[in-house]
Amino acid sequence: MPNKQNGSPKKALTSEVDQVNNIESSITPNKGLLRCIIDTVSDLIYVKDLNGIYRGCNKASEEFVGLKESEQIGKSDFDFFEKNVAEEVRSIDKRILDSGEEYSIEEWVPTPNGKRVFLESKKAPFYGPDGKVAGIVGISRDITARKQAEDALKKANQELDAFAHTVSHDLRTPLTPIIGNAEVLRNRYRDQLDQPALEALNDIISSSEEMLAMMKDLLSLATVGQVARPVTTLDAGDIARAVVHSLTDQITVAEVSIDIGDLPTVCVPRTLLIQVFENFIVNALKYGSNAGDTIYVGGKRKDDRVSFYVRDHGTGIPAEERDRIFEVFYQQNETEETHGTGIGLATIQKIAQRFDGRTWVEETPGGGSTFWIEIIDVSV
Ligand code: ADP
Repeated sequence: MPNKQNGSPKKALTSEVDQVNNIESSITPNKGLLRCIIDTVSDLIYVKDLNGIYRGCNKASEEFVGLKESEQIGKSDFDFFEKNVAEEVRSIDKRILDSGEEYSIEEWVPTPNGKRVFLESKKAPFYGPDGKVAGIVGISRDITARKQAEDALKKANQELDAFAHTVSHDLRTPLTPIIGNAEVLRNRYRDQLDQPALEALNDIISSSEEMLAMMKDLLSLATVGQVARPVTTLDAGDIARAVVHSLTDQITVAEVSIDIGDLPTVCVPRTLLIQVFENFIVNALKYGSNAGDTIYVGGKRKDDRVSFYVRDHGTGIPAEERDRIFEVFYQQNETEETHGTGIGLATIQKIAQRFDGRTWVEETPGGGSTFWIEIIDVSV
């Protein structure tokens, strides 16, 4: 059938083939074009032979070393770097040549002109016409600015954590006697106090308790960044069962049952895993359940990715709010009964990030929320 728009299909095909041929012919034999592309790239590109002798490089590499390509050819890393740096580079190169495998690294490197830059490098062996490894091609990107920004952010976060830690820890101390004394006054002098005085005391107690809960949650949030990964793995099922046991009263009041599936083992600090289950389950009890419901706790491992989830059948969370609820102090529909601080999910997010993972919420089929945390655990 002739193609009405483009003439005959054969003609259309021929012109496409012509186009491809044109592009190929302009690229294939055109070493000048290839050279132009290589020199336009802002990453350093260099080629070394089997003996670690430079055989070529691009313009970015010329600027980095401070020598023209013609001046670099024939030299080795020992001509450009200090002996220990050059030896390390050579040993990595040898490993690549022996294994035939690519190698990626991010590291601080002293430049030949005395500066230090943070390079993200990838090196790979290349093969000669005889099919044998003939040398190494390296591509390095200067990511010093990004690294410095990341380090500054990390330092600022550590300082903020230290500040939040001190403040929340120290402010808890005076709160305990405030609550204690107000309770003594209320209990001991109940008969002598009039209604407004009793109400004022109740206000002092409930506001102080709220503040105490906030301090406790802030302290947990500030502590997450400081914990190290333990060496022993935990049975997450045992932890989930212990958490559920500790919540027996709340579960009884809510008239729900909790079903715990087969959970994988995982290598994270016990206190953090307790926080994860406690927060997800308490939230499911507070916001996501009706009498008679079953809250399900599940988990799985796929290679080094371990995930846990808590599924409820409550009112759910509108799609546009699902990211925001992980922000610190974000509370959706805070009521007298829910008594939240808006810090719990932010802490879970920090735990996830601490272990290179993530946390998110999705809608439970049929309604409700399923909260997930995924962490990277290379211990198994
Ligand atoms: P808190 O519970 O202390 O307020 P969180 O950070 O744990 O703080 O939760 C933040 C908000 O997310 C809650 O105020 C609530 O609005 C919402 N939320 C959390 N879990 C659920 C859930 N299972 N179902 C519905 N909403 C939830």
